[in-house]
Amino acid sequence: MRNYYELLNIAQDADKYTIKKAFYKLAKKYHPDLSKNHDLFIKILNAYEILMDDRKRHLYDRTLGINCRKVLPKNRITFALSLRDVAFVYNPSGFKSVGYRPDGSKPKDHWSSGFKPIGLWPTGFWPTVYKGFDVQVRLTEQELRAGSVIYVDLPARVVCPLCRGDRIPCTLCSGKGHILRAVPVPVHIPGYLGDGEVFSIPLRKMKQREFAFFKMERLKVKIRIDQE
Ligand SMILES: [Zn+2]
Repeated sequence: MRNYYELLNIAQDADKYTIKKAFYKLAKKYHPDLSKNHDLFIKILNAYEILMDDRKRHLYDRTLGINCRKVLPKNRITFALSLRDVAFVYNPSGFKSVGYRPDGSKPKDHWSSGFKPIGLWPTGFWPTVYKGFDVQVRLTEQELRAGSVIYVDLPARVVCPLCRGDRIPCTLCSGKGHILRAVPVPVHIPGYLGDGEVFSIPLRKMKQREFAFFKMERLKVKIRIDQE
């Protein structure tokens, strides 16, 4: 049996415009009023309905084993919340006025008013709720449909690579045994999302190569689909 793409005679990464065009062409030819091949018309209609629905198409693609995951370049990712702000707020050593930038201004565009203390970090507070989204990714419909991956640099507490956490007199971590570092986190983008949709992934329990502790509870990613 031909798959839906073969049935409509289109490529597996065809956009909606192409699908629609292919469908209308075939629908004219095999319409029940003109053709006796009703079964074929039903199949074409079914293929059209599945492929025009992002979620259904994504699930259908998986049954075909279509898997062309692609890592998107960094310049497609913009931070609503800058890494610098996150690192600053994280710093549990000195700054009591959490949620403020080094210049003293409050980053109120990005932070919600609800700051919630986390038990593990007695001197620091970490906001658990953000307004809107943390990063935004721009991609084409084809890239979205193909199931793309982005790498987002996030501030994390990692074991000191120099002393391996032994806390011996260490020049890198000053004997703390850990350092704050940006850790690239792979984020798989669900292929069924639409333009402007936001999805979130939990980070607290995520471990990355050597032990990494993310200070953000979750990462919220906003999808922007670029017209080609
Ligand atoms: Zn060290």
